[in-house]
Amino acid sequence: MLPAGPVHRKSPPELSDFQPVVGTLPVRPDVAIIGAGPSGLSVARELEHGHRIPTLVIDRAEVPAVAWRTRYDDFRLNTSGFLSHLPGQRIPLGAGRWPTKEDMVRYFDSYVRRQNITLRLGCEVNRVDRTGDGWRLDTSSGEVRARAIVLATGRYATPTIPAWPGVDHFTGELVHSGDFSNAWPFRGRDVLVVGAGNSAADIAVALADNGARKVWLAVRTPPHLVRRAMGGFPSDIFLEMFARVPARAVDPVIARLNRLLWGDLSGYGFDRPPLGLKASVEQRGRIPTLADELVDAVRAGRIEVVAAVEAVDSNHVILADGASVTPDAIIAATGFSTDLDGLVGHLGVLDQQGNPRGGFASQVADGMFALGYGIPPNGPLRAIRLHAKPLAREVAAYLEAASVTGHAAVVAHIGEKASG
Ligand SMILES: Cc1cc2nc3c(=O)[nH]c(=O)nc-3n(C[C@H](O)[C@H](O)[C@H](O)COP(=O)(O)OP(=O)(O)OC[C@H]3O[C@@H](n4cnc5c(N)ncnc54)[C@H](O)[C@@H]3O)c2cc1C
Repeated sequence: MLPAGPVHRKSPPELSDFQPVVGTLPVRPDVAIIGAGPSGLSVARELEHGHRIPTLVIDRAEVPAVAWRTRYDDFRLNTSGFLSHLPGQRIPLGAGRWPTKEDMVRYFDSYVRRQNITLRLGCEVNRVDRTGDGWRLDTSSGEVRARAIVLATGRYATPTIPAWPGVDHFTGELVHSGDFSNAWPFRGRDVLVVGAGNSAADIAVALADNGARKVWLAVRTPPHLVRRAMGGFPSDIFLEMFARVPARAVDPVIARLNRLLWGDLSGYGFDRPPLGLKASVEQRGRIPTLADELVDAVRAGRIEVVAAVEAVDSNHVILADGASVTPDAIIAATGFSTDLDGLVGHLGVLDQQGNPRGGFASQVADGMFALGYGIPPNGPLRAIRLHAKPLAREVAAYLEAASVTGHAAVVAHIGEKASG
């Protein structure tokens, strides 16, 4: 939850020229998918095209892939376009190695049309409950019943800001990175960006390039800094090549390479990360930060890297090393939470972090599936593509077992899965 305090809000998402294919409620599809982001669209495509299963994708936004429309200006994909498409349709080559936000929005809109995905937009699912032969979804537009459901609500539902002591007394502006559009409102102001991921890096650079007076970047865990490309090839292609090599073998090579590429950055506030790059992704879910522009700006003194935020006072921020800074605004690039409690929390299907049990793609209950939760090692979009087909196959097998021999067969099917 966002703490109380002044918050800079974005304007509503750009609607582009998208014309939704809307159905009327109540409907009874075989499968209802909650979320029309990349995960929901991918599974819908695989169910309809691969298994001819009538599928309805429901989203509370008025447009599909809304999270991509609300990314900050100048956003470019961090992973390469070549590896980041959804099943069955490539991102046009004209979008280049790192497609922009606009390229991705055009791509997702075209995906919905060309893959003929049925959407119910502007419809929030508030709660999911079991019925005798499937699921009932209570939505803002009425009730939907389906034999199976797929949770695809994304990992970015609710912006989170740590409960720094004293933050409620901060008299400056407090903004979450999810609400940052561009640097113009911060011209001539002193800004503290909190975080060390890709959003934090992009925002700090945008501020430094566009007239903020002073930019600090508060870093808690030193990130792995990587270049967007090496020898002309996007860095995620190298990660892809090393996908099957264990972290203990590949990490020392990456560390040596990074020292050669960047030199020693500890004098600029970037200490050595506690774990190797691949181990950080696998064990902590921390993806590397693309840092070409960030490192240039830090070396040029346009961004100052400082210690983690410890506490906040009316007009200054106390840092972990005892120093303090006096920003006019704090931009917290401190992550998001899934916020699934109200929707399915009562069904006992969530783990301690509030994610559906079972990892990135899973069957979490009898006839309930989930895709897109967790941090995959080589890019979420790529992982969504790779997992959508097997998950759709699982959903189809579940429905077939249910319709051939009724509920007993479904239970047997689940029993088989559990035993191997
Ligand atoms: C700043 C940023 C940059 C990123 N860059 C990359 C990148 O370069 N490469 C990459 O691979 N990944 C990137 N990602 C990750 C990216 O967000 C995911 O790859 C992708 O969007 C996840 O898709 P999803 O469908 O699982 O979730 P989302 O895209 O979050 O979609 C979830 C959908 O569910 C809907 N929804 C949620 N709750 C409900 C409800 N109760 N009722 C109805 N609808 C609901 C939402 O409106 C939303 O449309 C980035 C993420 C962020 C935040």
